[in-house]
Formats: sequence, structure tokens, C-alpha cells
Amino acid sequence: MSYVGPDFDPPQPRRSAVRRPLTVAVAAVVVGAVAGWGVWQAVGDSGDGAGGPTGATGPQTRPATTPPASGDPTASGDDGTGDGSGADGGKASPSGSSSAPAATGPLKGKIVVIDPGHNPGNFQHTTEINRKVNIGTNAKECDTTGTTTNDGYLEADFTLDVARRMRTLLQQEGATVKFTQDGDRTWGPCIDERARIGNEAKADAVVSIHADGSGTGNRGFHVILPGSVNEGAADTRPIVAPSRDLGERITGYFVRATGSAPSNYVGGGTGIVTRTDLGGLNLSTVPKVFIECGNMRDSKDAAQLTSGAWRQKAAQGISDGITSFLEN
Ligand code: ZN
Repeated sequence: MSYVGPDFDPPQPRRSAVRRPLTVAVAAVVVGAVAGWGVWQAVGDSGDGAGGPTGATGPQTRPATTPPASGDPTASGDDGTGDGSGADGGKASPSGSSSAPAATGPLKGKIVVIDPGHNPGNFQHTTEINRKVNIGTNAKECDTTGTTTNDGYLEADFTLDVARRMRTLLQQEGATVKFTQDGDRTWGPCIDERARIGNEAKADAVVSIHADGSGTGNRGFHVILPGSVNEGAADTRPIVAPSRDLGERITGYFVRATGSAPSNYVGGGTGIVTRTDLGGLNLSTVPKVFIECGNMRDSKDAAQLTSGAWRQKAAQGISDGITSFLEN
């Protein structure tokens, strides 16, 4: 609940509204979805929400496997998801672009970049990830550690798992899929480098995967869209509209695949938030969104996020949204 996170925009809270009957939230999403393209009609309301706001700043040391003493969201301010100019860093190989084996399918010829937020190694490389990088509007930390569940499941492990599941699904559709990191480097990349990877790949769509670290009771997922920014190295004006289209489709398909409700603490029940403070979005020149799949600090959301079966549904929903965007 605290929007204290340094990375979080003063959202348009309305949380009370959102807490209302799920139908309200769902209806809002449906409206949003329909507004863009009318993707689905039926929404299961399982009531399980998913994501939360990105929290404050994260722990500087890798969390123990046991639950932190306090339930305090060690969040991560995550969205920092950083991509950055990871100039130095644990770079190993240009992480991976594994392209699908000879693709045939509706997405043949399309390039999708998936950005698994954070890196489990960031906890051991605080000096490197705290270095400031230029995101156009200002300087911001290279990356953050990301958050964890109260039981110690790392956001960084979650993001990579969902990303890999997405890669499989998207390759089956014929897409060429590249990652900003694939567990193949010791930390990072920084947020500016994460953006650059999508840009240089000339990606048709980029999605940055996250899970939030907000307060208990804050539930549900939300998709973050780039706001219009034109300052320094940042000029998102050309990508605002297509990114919204991408984000709305992902929102709709995510609800459909997971049954999760949109965030009850940001986005006014729509599951969509626009931000201008994220380097990974500000520096992108190709359509890009972030998704916070759930709130790791809420036990009900955490139960989903730690489930492989649920992560498969999440991967399916996000991938379906991307596919819908690329086919239109
Ligand atoms: Zn994150």
C-alpha cells in the first residue's frame, strides 16, 4: 500500500474503488480492453488478483531463504527494472537471443524482446547496480535488486521463469525471441542497456516482466505504459500509442489466462498505469510495456506467483497479448 517506493509514481490511487466487487474491476478492464480492440467477453473472476505496486527500495543483501522477520515489503522499487547502461558489469554474453528454430507461424519475422526484471546477482553487486545512469529525464540507479516473497522467493527468479515460459510459447508462434538477460551474467544489465537491447534488436514488441513488492492486502496485476517524454535521450512520443495498444491487449489476455483481477491499489481498477519515471520505458524507441504480475508481499498473490502452474498461465496471457498486438 505504501506508495512510498521511490520508483512509484504518485498513482491515481482510488484504491477504495478498486476494492469493491471484483466485477467492478473486471468491468473496468473489459471496458479498457474493448476500447482498444474488444478482445474478450468473458472474464473469469477467480478473484485472485495479482500484482502490486512497485515498492520501495529493496534489500541490499540477498534475502535469506526464510521469511523476513517483518512483513515489511522490502520492495524493490522495482520497476526500476532496469536496463541500463550496464557498461561494465557482469556481462557475459549478450544475453540471449535465442531465436526460435526455424519459425513458421503467425509471428514469423516478428522480433519480441523479453526483459526479465532484475537479476538474482544484483544482491551481491550493490555498488554496480546503484551507479546512476541517464534515463533522459534524470539520473537513476542502474538497476535494483527486485523484491521477494515473505518466504524468500526472489522476484528475479520469478521474472526469469515467466520469461522463459513466454519464449517457448512465442517461438511456437514463429517469433524470434531475445532476452535482455538469461541468467547468464552476474548482475544487471542496467536499465538503459535493457532499453538499448530492445532498440537495437528493432523489436516489434518488448515486455519487461516484474512482480511488485507492496503491502499486504494490495493485490492484482498491472501493466505500466510509457507516458509521453521528450527530454534528453528520451523521446517516447512515437511509442506511446502502440505501447498502449500492446499494454491493453496484454491486460485483457492476462485476465483471461490467469483469472486474476487488476490491481486494487493502482490504476483505478483498469490494471493499467502510465509512468514517465522508468528508464526502461523512457529510453525505448520501440513499443514496450512493463507488467507487474502480482504483489509478492501479499500472501494470496504470493501463493500464485510461487506456483509453476500459475506462472504458466501468466506467461500464456502475456504471450497472447503480444501475439494479438503483432497480428494486428
Ligand atoms: Zn521489478
